[in-house]
Amino acid sequence: PTTAPKGPGYGLQAFSRPVDAPPLPRIARGEGIWLIDTEGNRYLDASSGPVASNLGHGHPRIIAAIEAQARQAVFAYPSQFESAANIEFAERLARLAGPGLDRAFVVSGGSEAVESAIKFVRQHAVVTGQASRWKVIGRQPGYHGNTLGALGVSGDAHAHEIFGPMMRTVPRVPAPLTYRLPPNHTVESHARNCAAALDEAIRSEGPETVLAFIMEPVGGLATGALVAPDIYHALVREICTRHGVKLIFDEVMSGAGRTGRFLAADHWPGARPDIAVLAKGLSAGYAPLGAALVSAEMVQAVNAAGGFMHGFTYNAHVMNCAVGAAVLREVEEADLVGNAARMGSLLRDRLEDLASRSALIGDVRGKGLLLAVELVADKETKAMIPLERVAPERVKALGMRHGLALYCRRTSRGAYGDWLMITPPLTITAEEVELLVGRLAAVLDDYAS
Ligand code: PMP
Repeated sequence: PTTAPKGPGYGLQAFSRPVDAPPLPRIARGEGIWLIDTEGNRYLDASSGPVASNLGHGHPRIIAAIEAQARQAVFAYPSQFESAANIEFAERLARLAGPGLDRAFVVSGGSEAVESAIKFVRQHAVVTGQASRWKVIGRQPGYHGNTLGALGVSGDAHAHEIFGPMMRTVPRVPAPLTYRLPPNHTVESHARNCAAALDEAIRSEGPETVLAFIMEPVGGLATGALVAPDIYHALVREICTRHGVKLIFDEVMSGAGRTGRFLAADHWPGARPDIAVLAKGLSAGYAPLGAALVSAEMVQAVNAAGGFMHGFTYNAHVMNCAVGAAVLREVEEADLVGNAARMGSLLRDRLEDLASRSALIGDVRGKGLLLAVELVADKETKAMIPLERVAPERVKALGMRHGLALYCRRTSRGAYGDWLMITPPLTITAEEVELLVGRLAAVLDDYAS
């Protein structure tokens, strides 16, 4: 009930916040790009929550789809019944994702989708006579989810310190960060070295033991919207092919239109992954939903050996699939991929204007509406903001005061820097872009003063 007391105690707040943290505003409703709390305060959603609410809030067509599906069937166990919702969702997804990624294993979120992708690739290796391949190489920094397996392949030193012994440790190779480069390197030469590190890691592990390499084609929170140069993508694809290692793209944040293409992979057509993992924007936050996309050939090989030995109660959940199908319909009919490209380029221009006026913004990066601004103590030296100033929490709290909901968190204990994800809903208009950047400017002014 809305009359329940605010603050830590019951609810998720009991787990996830320091005991002395001030209470959060309580959500009442959402409307387009706005989130409105129970006291009537309005917050412009600059991040789509954790880069999920791609259609904004209170979307009438999605609400109508939820109502219609709820009247028919919400849940039927997929080993007993198939559903039209699952078939429509998977067919739309196959068409949008394109050849080689045309079969969708549907789950409840990003971590489950990553787990499913890894287990699928492993079973595929086993049934095709490559049982010696089991190692999954990830990147440092990188993030693929919070379950033990997904965290195991994530490059998050802090999480590994806490949970490390419970996760199988796998090799990690450096992500080709573009802002702070090693001495005497260009973005491109550094990226070449990072790709060479993958080649070396595969060789030193023994190529016959390496199953897959997992990376975000456009980075999320772990790297602050990292975009590697084209050569990196080409080299990674070549290295994986040469060693028989499957390339998995984690598109949990970057997929479903956010970067101005349906998949971020579509920006590098010559370097297609073997598997792509989607979640978040796939249901735009209207249902828990994720998918591992693989090829029909791989499914056939696994099915010939008895089928994928993996599943969850809520695989292909009927209601969630109906939401996913409605979201994909809307993404296509309202040309939200095109809008992400157009508004992304406008937003990027405005953020670059702001960066030229602000001593705090050292870098603006990303693709489409998957953008980030990196905050620095000194633009000349690129010095990071000292840890004790707890930049992300302060900026976030100031954002709320200015009616701007921001997504930022210090990842890897701040080892790589601090950034704000600027990832509004794909439905954003040009006027809303101006409003967002105006409020962000006010937040950063406040932060600096
Ligand atoms: N991969 C990436 C790139 C993500 O950003 C996230 C979520 N932040 C996940 C995986 C995990 O998704 P979920 O939280 O839905 O389990």
